[in-house]
Amino acid sequence: MVVRQHVRLNPGWTWLVVVPAVALGYWAVGLFGTHYFARYGLMPAPIWLPSALAFAAAWRFGAAGLVGLFLGSMAINGVSQAQPLGAALTLSLANSLGPWLGVHLLKRHVGNRPPFFSTRDVWHFLWTAVGLAALITSFGGALVLSWNGALLSQSFLFTAMRWWLSDASGTLLFAPVMMLWLLPLQRPDLLPKIGLSERAGLTAVVLLSSFLVLSLLSNPSGLYSGLPYLLLLPISWAAARVPLRYAHLLASLVSVLAIVGAVEERGAFFVDSNSQALTAAGLMIVSQTVILLVVGALVMERRLAEDRLRVANQSLEEKVGERTRQLAESESRFKLVADASPFPMVMNRLSDGGVIYANPRAEALFHRRLFAERALYVQDFYVDPANRDQVAVLLQVQGQVNDIEVELQDADGRAFWALLSCQMVRLDGSRHVLTGINDISERKALEQRLHSANAALKRQVEEIESLQQGLKEQAVRDPLTGLFNRRYLDESIDRVLAHFAALSRPVSLMMLDVDHFKQVNDRHGHSAGDKVLSTLGALLSDRFRSGDIVCRFGGEEFIAVMPGSSLADARIKCERLREELQNTPVLLPDGSELHLTVSIGVAAMPEQGDDAESLIDAADTSLYAAKSGGRNRVCTAEPYNWGAVSDA
Ligand code: GH3
Ligand code: MG
Ligand code: MG
Repeated sequence: MVVRQHVRLNPGWTWLVVVPAVALGYWAVGLFGTHYFARYGLMPAPIWLPSALAFAAAWRFGAAGLVGLFLGSMAINGVSQAQPLGAALTLSLANSLGPWLGVHLLKRHVGNRPPFFSTRDVWHFLWTAVGLAALITSFGGALVLSWNGALLSQSFLFTAMRWWLSDASGTLLFAPVMMLWLLPLQRPDLLPKIGLSERAGLTAVVLLSSFLVLSLLSNPSGLYSGLPYLLLLPISWAAARVPLRYAHLLASLVSVLAIVGAVEERGAFFVDSNSQALTAAGLMIVSQTVILLVVGALVMERRLAEDRLRVANQSLEEKVGERTRQLAESESRFKLVADASPFPMVMNRLSDGGVIYANPRAEALFHRRLFAERALYVQDFYVDPANRDQVAVLLQVQGQVNDIEVELQDADGRAFWALLSCQMVRLDGSRHVLTGINDISERKALEQRLHSANAALKRQVEEIESLQQGLKEQAVRDPLTGLFNRRYLDESIDRVLAHFAALSRPVSLMMLDVDHFKQVNDRHGHSAGDKVLSTLGALLSDRFRSGDIVCRFGGEEFIAVMPGSSLADARIKCERLREELQNTPVLLPDGSELHLTVSIGVAAMPEQGDDAESLIDAADTSLYAAKSGGRNRVCTAEPYNWGAVSDA
C-alpha cells in the first residue's frame, strides 16, 4: 500500500513508557471528564473522552496500550470511584475488551495504516471503533453494574444506550486526531504545498470564528442556532488544504469549544439549558467530524490516485526515455558498425526504394554523396530494370537475397558488376532492405579476359588441327594431280587386300602409263607436260569410284586399286578409259590441243596373287606387254601360277 507502515517503538521501551503513560492519561482524562461534567450536573458525561484514548492507544500500541488502558480503567473505577474490586476488574475488562476487538477487526480490514485515507477505511473505522468497540464497552459496563445491583435492571437499556452514545461520540470526535498524531506524518509528499500564511490564516479564521460563535455569542431567542454550521466551511477548506491530522486537530478544538460553550451555557447553541445546548452541539460536531472524515478520505483518495498516475506516468516516461536512449544507442551502434564496414552497404525503404542510408564505402563506390543533392532510389542504380524486379521478387518471396550478380551503375553512368546480398529488416515499424554490395568488376573482367583467351585458344587449336589435317593430306597427296601419292598406296593397299581376301572378294589393280610422254615435254615444254598430268589426274579421279584408291605412282604412271572389281570388269573399265582418253584432247596452256594415248596393264586378286607386290608386279608386266605390243592398249596379266609357287 502507498501509505507507510507504523514506525515501531523499541519493544523494551514500549512497555516501560507506554503502559504508565496510557494508564495515567486514561485516568487523568477520565477524572477530568467526570469532574468537569459533574460540576455542571451532566452525569453520566455526555461525551466520554477516555473511550477515544482507549481506542487510539489499543490501535497504536497493541498489548502495551491495552494493559495501560486496563490499569487506567482500574485506577478510575477502583481508586477514584471506589468500586468493589470485582466490579472494577470486570468494568476494566469490558473497557479493554471493546477497543481490543474493535482494533483487531479494524486492522484485519485496513491493516496498520490510519483508517482515514479512503472512504472504505473510514467506514471500517466507524463500525469498528464508533460502533462495535463503544458498544461492547458501554453494554459491558452496564451489564457489570446491573449484575452488582448498582444499576436498576429497568434502566439497563437506557443507561447502556446513553453510555454507548457517550463513548461513540468521544471516539468519533477525538480518536481520529489522536490516531493521526500518534504516527509520523503519512505521505508528506502528497500534501498540497500550503504556505505558512495560509495555514496561519486558516487556523485563525477557524479558531476565532469558533470562539466567537461557540463561546462569546449569546443566543437567548435561538435565532443563531444554525450559525455554527457555517464553521463547516473552513473545516472543509482545511480538509482539502492542510494535512489531515492538522484539520482534525482544528476540528477537535472547534468541538472542544462547542462542548465547553454548551456546557457552560454560552455561545450560539445555548438557548435555555446546557443539556439542550449539548445536544445541538453534539449534532453539529458529529456532522462536522463525519464531513471531515469523508472529505479528508475523498481528498486523500484523489491525491493517492493522482500520485499513482504520476508514478505510472513517470515510469512510463522513464521507460520511453530508456527505450529512446536504447534506440538512439542501437542506431548509433549500427551506424558505427555500418560506417566502419569494409563493404559497401545501403539501406532503403521497401515501399518505394528510397535510400535512407549509405555507408562511406557505398558512397565511394557510387561516386556520390548519397544525400547531398536529392532523394535517391535503388532502382536508379540498376543497369537492367529486370535485375531490380528479380531482386524485388526474391525479397518478397524469401525475405532475403543471397549473392546475386547484377550490373549496376554509378553517378557517372559507369556500369560495373556487383554481387548483392539483401536482407529485409523492420525499422520504425516499416519494412526496409539492407543491401551489401561487393564490386566484382575486376573478377568479371578477369572472367571476360579468360573467356576471350579460351576462345582464341580454341581457334588456334582448330587452326592447328586444320593445318595438321592439311599436312596429313599433303603427306598422302600428289601436289600436281591432287591424287593420292605412292606412299598412301603403300600404306593402304595391304589393308584393302586383306579385308577383301577375308571376304573372298576380288580386288583389281590397273597401272597406266602415258605413251611417249617424253615427247610432250620435249615439244611443248615441261609446263605443258604438267598440264597434261593434272588434266589426266582430274579425269582419273572423276572416273573411279570413291572407294577406289587412285594414285600417281610416279612420273606419268598412275595406279588405281579397285576393291570388289574382278579382272574382267577391270579390263572392261580400263578399255573404256583408254578409249575415252584417246578421244579426249588435252587443252594446252598455249591454246593448242594435244591427243594422247595411254597403255594400261591390269592385274587382279586372286588371279595374280593376294599381296600388293604381286599385283603391282603383275600389272607392271602387263603394262610392259601393252607397250611392247604397240601402245594405246590394255593388257591383262596371265593368271598366277599357284602351282609354280607352291612347287617353289
Ligand atoms: P613410252 O612410255 O611410250 O615408252 O615413252 P615415254 O616417252 O613416255 O617414255 P619415258 O617413261 O622414258 O618417259 C617419261 C618422261 O616423263 C620422262 C620425264 O621427263 C617425263 N616426266 C616424268 N615426270 C614428269 C613430270 O612430273 N612432269 C613432266 N612435264 N614431265 C615428267
Ligand atoms: Mg613411263
Ligand atoms: Mg610413257
